[in-house]
Amino acid sequence: MRKINLDELRIMAENAKAGLKTVAENLGRPVKIYIHWSAGHYDQYYNDYHINIGKNGELFVSTDDFNEYKLHTYHRNSGAVAISAACAYNAHSANDLGPEPPTDYQIEGIAQSLAVLTKALDIPIDNKHVMTHAEAADNLDGDFRWHEPYGPASTVERWDFWVIKEGDEPGSGGDILRGKGVWYCNNGL
Ligand SMILES: [Zn+2]
Repeated sequence: MRKINLDELRIMAENAKAGLKTVAENLGRPVKIYIHWSAGHYDQYYNDYHINIGKNGELFVSTDDFNEYKLHTYHRNSGAVAISAACAYNAHSANDLGPEPPTDYQIEGIAQSLAVLTKALDIPIDNKHVMTHAEAADNLDGDFRWHEPYGPASTVERWDFWVIKEGDEPGSGGDILRGKGVWYCNNGL
């Protein structure tokens, strides 16, 4: 894992933009960003995600090229960039995110990364382009071509960021993260 700052993130995204676009368009879909939590500990980072976000909001990349194929979001990995907050070990439900829930720093780190990535990749921060794993699992972008639903509305196999805080309204996580991302876009990132 290599620690980077937001300027380096921007350069990496700009360098990967053309390749990601080609791969995504060949599949008839836009370039996407998927937001995960690792379901591991705060200090555990995984190669399955391009970007890991540490407890204090630090950014770590597992690759030098966001075109590198990673296994993060079932049947949705091509032409996509994966961000994961290192947290949510032993999370059980929207009311119980376990002993290592997402930190405020991680939430802001995700939002800042969304602002930088979407601008560099020239995609909007909406639910067709920026999705939590919970949303992607249930095909909430309306694209049912790749897999059966397996998220909170169906089998509940994956529900990353269905909420960002315990007790939040179920399903609110994606809108909150995208809203924060838009705020950072409008405020200098
Ligand atoms: Zn996930």
